[in-house]
Amino acid sequence: MGDEKVKNEAMEIMGLFQILPRLVVFDLDYTIWPFYCECRSKREMPSLYPHVKGILYALKDKGIDVAVASRSPTADIADTFLDKLGLKSMFVSKEIFSSWTHKTDHFQRINQRTGVPYNKMLFFDDENRNIEAVSKMGVTSILVRNGVNLGALREGLSKFSQNLASVERNKRKWQKFSEKPGSSEKDKK
Ligand SMILES: [Mg+2]
Repeated sequence: MGDEKVKNEAMEIMGLFQILPRLVVFDLDYTIWPFYCECRSKREMPSLYPHVKGILYALKDKGIDVAVASRSPTADIADTFLDKLGLKSMFVSKEIFSSWTHKTDHFQRINQRTGVPYNKMLFFDDENRNIEAVSKMGVTSILVRNGVNLGALREGLSKFSQNLASVERNKRKWQKFSEKPGSSEKDKK
């Protein structure tokens, strides 16, 4: 499938959801490309998983920001590859550094830089420990097995709206709890 076709399908998928994330964050190695960039040379021409470019273009078209959270120890190679792929300027925040935490510090930085709350972010990564740690911060996080593709996008958007709906439900529950009795007839079922 060409980039344009993937982009159109991604646009269709996004059209199925009423609420969309404000920011989508991607890991790099084995999430957008099928290798560890620390094992490669800057001189090489990298390639992405087949759906990645189309998905990035669709997000951009839809006005959704994209960012990178990678624990790669070779930020210079990662940067060179993103540049060669024509993606470097796409990301509003690029956090590429090795760390003992499972990307919680990456997300703190992304949050500081962009001002986007954690529950308005969607994250794709191929490592379960990152998914677990970042979900606990309130970010909808999706484990990918063969890189980001249209299936993962659909899964991510669907989980994102479920999570946000449950946050809203809880908020309403607490509002009701704190209101004076009889003050909110409209909330009665
Ligand atoms: Mg990875």
